[in-house]
Amino acid sequence: MSFFVPRVSRRMLLATAAGTVLWPAVARALGVASAIRVHDHTTHTRIVLELSENVEFSIFSLADPYRIVADLPELDWTMEGNALAAPTGVVKAVRYGLFQPGRARIVVDLVDPALVKNAFVLPATGGTPNRFVIDLEKAPRDKFLAVAGPQHRIGGLAGAGTKPIPAKGLAEIPPEQANPKKLVVIDPGHGGVDPGAIGLSGVYEKTITLAAAKQLKSRLEATGRYRVKLTRERDLSLELGERREIARAAQADLFISLHADSIGNKTVRGLSVYTLSEKASDREAEQLAEQENNADSIIGVDLSHESQEVRHILVDLAQRESMNLATKLADRLIGELKREATLLRNGHRFARFVVLKSPDVPSVLIEMGYLSNRQDEAALKTEVYRGKLMAAVVRGVDTHFGVVQSARRD
Ligand code: ZN
Repeated sequence: MSFFVPRVSRRMLLATAAGTVLWPAVARALGVASAIRVHDHTTHTRIVLELSENVEFSIFSLADPYRIVADLPELDWTMEGNALAAPTGVVKAVRYGLFQPGRARIVVDLVDPALVKNAFVLPATGGTPNRFVIDLEKAPRDKFLAVAGPQHRIGGLAGAGTKPIPAKGLAEIPPEQANPKKLVVIDPGHGGVDPGAIGLSGVYEKTITLAAAKQLKSRLEATGRYRVKLTRERDLSLELGERREIARAAQADLFISLHADSIGNKTVRGLSVYTLSEKASDREAEQLAEQENNADSIIGVDLSHESQEVRHILVDLAQRESMNLATKLADRLIGELKREATLLRNGHRFARFVVLKSPDVPSVLIEMGYLSNRQDEAALKTEVYRGKLMAAVVRGVDTHFGVVQSARRD
């Protein structure tokens, strides 16, 4: 199948961001990507993406770890999975998928620093489809660093030099006030080029979190007491800061981020609820926060500019208030969730999750279980089990907002 939909302009994307529906399910794909290959040609390593259309692209590189990032218009990916892990030449792995509405991204993880020697689209001829080709040549680190960063983009994808949905733009969206219903923002962890944890059976964390988020949304809405917004409604990459900003801009009353963990020890299972703290409750919690915070380096976003801002936010008094509220909510969620699921010891944990750092929105992160544990993974893959967990979350949220037991409809 092939889509011929007019190119989405930057203005249209902003209009979308300002609308009531953040990610409309309208197909915007400009073409179909049907295969990706990597070849080692001794002097260079070649990446070939087969496409139904002749598209524009832009490419830049990122250091530490060495990566090449290629942006393309939104594509329909018909290949299995989101990654090609076979190391070939200078390439360690290639990941690809939807990056943002209107934008597809390929992230090439490099073994060694390498420069883009050539990048072009070969038009289709006869039975051969259009091919997007990137040739990479090994280079010394100093040469790589001299041209690293999005400011050194090459190629001509319209609007690629700017973020289509800037956090500031979102903050200017007028909040939907005068509505007595509490607004809950649900954040399905990971997405797009970032699959999150990968389960024993191969299931992606991003798939589980999105399914659970949709179930939670419909259960909260069914009470008639809540408005619900998802940070993403489909398989899409989002920066952690953007997830936070969506909640802040909408003036959410609560922010709930959903995740599922993975760990080397396959016997470990259980659910836990995290709230923000500058001090982690234990080393395990700290490692998990690092893993989750790392998502931004997976989707190829430079966060180095943000640490200062985040530090300032951290000392904000408003945050103390939000943290106290989040702590109370977490305890209530645990009280309900322990009736439905196995809990980790110390079910309520504290860690420095970037996604929880909204100064003014009480935020919690639920690790629903371990995809590295056979029982947890099997359960999380079922709608019934996720439904039980999400019903418990609704009860916890109800208690948090002082809804009396008898008023419950679920
Ligand atoms: Zn996660």
